[in-house]
Amino acid sequence: MAATEILILSPHLDDGVLSLGAFIATASAAGTMVTVVTIFAGDPDSQAPAGHWDGRAGFETAGGAARGRREEDRAACDLLGAECEWLPFFDKDYGPAPADDAVWDQLASRVERAERVFVPGRPLIHGDHAWVSRVVSERADPAKLVFYAELPYDAWPEDKRGGQGSAELARHRTWTAPQGEHAHDKTDRYDDETGRVCEAQRAR
Ligand SMILES: [Zn+2]
Repeated sequence: MAATEILILSPHLDDGVLSLGAFIATASAAGTMVTVVTIFAGDPDSQAPAGHWDGRAGFETAGGAARGRREEDRAACDLLGAECEWLPFFDKDYGPAPADDAVWDQLASRVERAERVFVPGRPLIHGDHAWVSRVVSERADPAKLVFYAELPYDAWPEDKRGGQGSAELARHRTWTAPQGEHAHDKTDRYDDETGRVCEAQRAR
C-alpha cells in the first residue's frame, strides 16, 4: 500500500504550522508523510515594495518578505518533520486574489494524490483564508477534506473578530465551510499513539 500522505493547505507561510503543529508532529513521527502547501508564498525575486503587513515586519521588498518567510516556514516544517511546498501567489496585501483556476491548476494533482487534505474551516474571517477554503471546497473530493480551526483567529473573542470588519472581509464572510466533519472530529480517527489513519477510516 502506498504511504499515507496528508496535505495541509496553508493560506500564508504560517497558518498550517500554527494551527496544526502538534498534529503534524505526531503524524509525521508515526511515518505519515505530511506536506504543508502554502498558497500565498509570494515571489522571492520580486522587487516590488513590501505590502503593509510585510513592511510592518521589517521587510523592504515583496521578494525579501517571500524569502525570509519561506526560510522560516522551512525551519518550522523541519522541526515538525513535514515537507513544505510553496505556490508563488501574492496575498491580498498585494492586490486582488488570483483567478480560482490559476491556483487550482497547481493544486489539483497534489490534492488527487493525498489521502486527506486539511483546509481552513473556522472562523474564516481573513479574506485569504476564506478564499482558499472556498476554491478548494468547490473543486476537491469532499470525502478527503478536513476543515481545521485557524489559529490564532479561532481563539480570538467574538468582539475582536468583529473588529476586523471591512467591506472585503464582510463579503468573504458570507462563505462558510460546509457543515460536516471538522478537524477535531476527523483527527479523532487518527490513532493517537501512532498518528496513522485508523483502519476503519482507510476501509471506507
Ligand atoms: Zn493566514
